[in-house]
Amino acid sequence: MSAARPMVERIDKLRHPVAIMKDDELGEVLGSLREKSKSLEDLAQRVQDGRKPDVLAAGRLLERSLFHLERAATGPAETGPVKAEVGEMLDIEIEEDLLEANRQIARVNREAFEKFGVRTVDVMGAIGSGKTSLIGAMVEVLSKNFSVGMLGGDVATSIDADRVRQSGAKTIQINTGKECHLDANLVRRALDQLDLSGLDILFVENVGNLICPSEFDLGCEKRLVVVSVTEGDSMVVKHPIMFLDADVVAINKIDMAESFGTDVGKLESDLESMNPRAVAVRTSVRTGRGLDELLGALSLG
Ligand code: MG
Ligand code: ZN
Repeated sequence: MSAARPMVERIDKLRHPVAIMKDDELGEVLGSLREKSKSLEDLAQRVQDGRKPDVLAAGRLLERSLFHLERAATGPAETGPVKAEVGEMLDIEIEEDLLEANRQIARVNREAFEKFGVRTVDVMGAIGSGKTSLIGAMVEVLSKNFSVGMLGGDVATSIDADRVRQSGAKTIQINTGKECHLDANLVRRALDQLDLSGLDILFVENVGNLICPSEFDLGCEKRLVVVSVTEGDSMVVKHPIMFLDADVVAINKIDMAESFGTDVGKLESDLESMNPRAVAVRTSVRTGRGLDELLGALSLG
């Protein structure tokens, strides 16, 4: 892979600022990164054709990590809030390559889902919005008539996947490590462990985060965003990107709206003006409200 050589060179360049920092732990991390990056070229030579998308995606992620590492090591310390100008936020070239690689793999996933007739939902939402409970409640209803699966994206644990398994789904855990979102390649790898021919419906629970998951198409048919009334009534205007691509939005924990003083109508009208195509459904796992409507909106009912 062409990404290997520039990585070695760039890590070499990082030695200077690291020496200035005199930070043993950081030096150790960069040292080991440097060693590993040397063997990347050798590894890349031996990649078989079928695994090239994996390597490409991994290379993009490494590139991006390295970009952030460089910035952190060589950039000036910032004080006070920094406002990013348009086009300045990220290394656009790297970001675009990464997203393009992701789109290609998402296409492969989508074709696989279509081939086996599996209905798929990418479930996104903040930590604590109730994604897992809502999936569990849907699985309980759906598993009476369908074979249901769930891929659970989480930084480190399998707590959520274990919970949904108890509701009757075949679950596979994806641990993302430090990544704060799922990407199409992680999903593709998880699919290697799942017999799609025996599956009717697949939920993919994304990592709890309202920022970047929306940028990474996983190849799912529908995108469900879960927002809890406990998060306040400005969530839609605060996270426009997330809601722009949503097919369905569950306004969850609706039984608690009054005690939290949340204006549910505002969430709905914000969504309506931002993305009129999206269907909003008021839900509560505790009372069961809106579950049928939600399944209908996801075309799963
Ligand atoms: Mg969860
Ligand atoms: Zn992320």
